[in-house]
Amino acid sequence: MKTKSGTLLPQTADGITNGGVYLQRRRCGKKNCWCACGEYHTGFYFIRRINGKFTKTYIRNSEVKAFAEIVNQSRALKAEKRTSTKQSNELLKRLRESSREYEQIAKLYKENYSDDSS
Ligand SMILES: [Zn+2]
Repeated sequence: MKTKSGTLLPQTADGITNGGVYLQRRRCGKKNCWCACGEYHTGFYFIRRINGKFTKTYIRNSEVKAFAEIVNQSRALKAEKRTSTKQSNELLKRLRESSREYEQIAKLYKENYSDDSS
């Protein structure tokens, strides 16, 4: 079995940065195959972008359910990350605001209580 590097199915939710599971229909191109004059072959593929290029990886029927679960996990993981990034940005913003306030207070304090006029 030949496998191009980068086209293997990720085994964990961490290995998935984008993409999803899609059902695709196709004709295999063999003249004698039933798909030549009838129905398409159907199969599930994991389609994602790697370095800007779309990559399609076939998912065996027996693996579709388990893999879809991994994709769901990766989505939940990403949503969680987004939330925590948002939260830490919020915290950073508040920290900056309060340090700006502190600077203003320190400046006012200096202006009002410094005794270098003596
Ligand atoms: Zn066929």
